[in-house]
Amino acid sequence: MMQAAARKFWQAEEATKREQVQVRILIVEDDKDLNRQLAEALEEQAYVVDRAHDGEEGHFLGDTEPYDAVILDIGLPEMDGVTVLEKWRADGRIMPVLILTARDRWSDKVAGIDAGADDYVTKPFHVEEVLARIRALIRRASGHASSEIACGSVRLDTKASKASVDGVTLKLTSHEFRLLSYLMHHMGEVVSRTELVEHMYDQDFDRDSNTIEVFVGRLRKKIGVELIETVRGLGYRMTPPEGSGTGKTG
Ligand code: CA
Repeated sequence: MMQAAARKFWQAEEATKREQVQVRILIVEDDKDLNRQLAEALEEQAYVVDRAHDGEEGHFLGDTEPYDAVILDIGLPEMDGVTVLEKWRADGRIMPVLILTARDRWSDKVAGIDAGADDYVTKPFHVEEVLARIRALIRRASGHASSEIACGSVRLDTKASKASVDGVTLKLTSHEFRLLSYLMHHMGEVVSRTELVEHMYDQDFDRDSNTIEVFVGRLRKKIGVELIETVRGLGYRMTPPEGSGTGKTG
């Protein structure tokens, strides 16, 4: 009797767990106590947590696993946090990243943000602050993560932050990915250079609209020249080739 009831309860519990959307977080922190402390706090909030204790391991995990957010220490053995982040962004990985910096190292903060960090927390911190910032980052990221958009042979997976042509994953920098993503979200519309600058760069980035041309040129080389049309004096338009599969799913 008791055993059957316990089993039933356990089964119901497992079913509930399966139904919950699991949010995966990677912690890259060489301070073992701090790493464990963060992991425990996140697991308590039902996040699925992976842990790395040096930059190389962290970079590998972030490069191969689909995380919803990453907590990345800047001072790490093997490979420093800024390099880890730069490599991810260069490979088109745009998951939200919260960096941890030391109080007396303001230059790390700047380098981290330049490398593509979404937010930072200065050590020492309260774990609650990290939790709140992670929640905010995930919320923000899922707000514009719809799913998959197609334009001809190009497919954009906004959740996995990946794009492919004919099923082959493209190697895009974070700027190229953002550009492609913006054009694909506005398929068929003319998008001005100013609008692209606004959406591609963070507040303090050098907002030179000439660089947009460079990015468009690079993107054309990767996805095919015909997909991005230059509308003289107005901007760019991405149009699917006639008769091709297009549309949004999910
Ligand atoms: Ca450290």
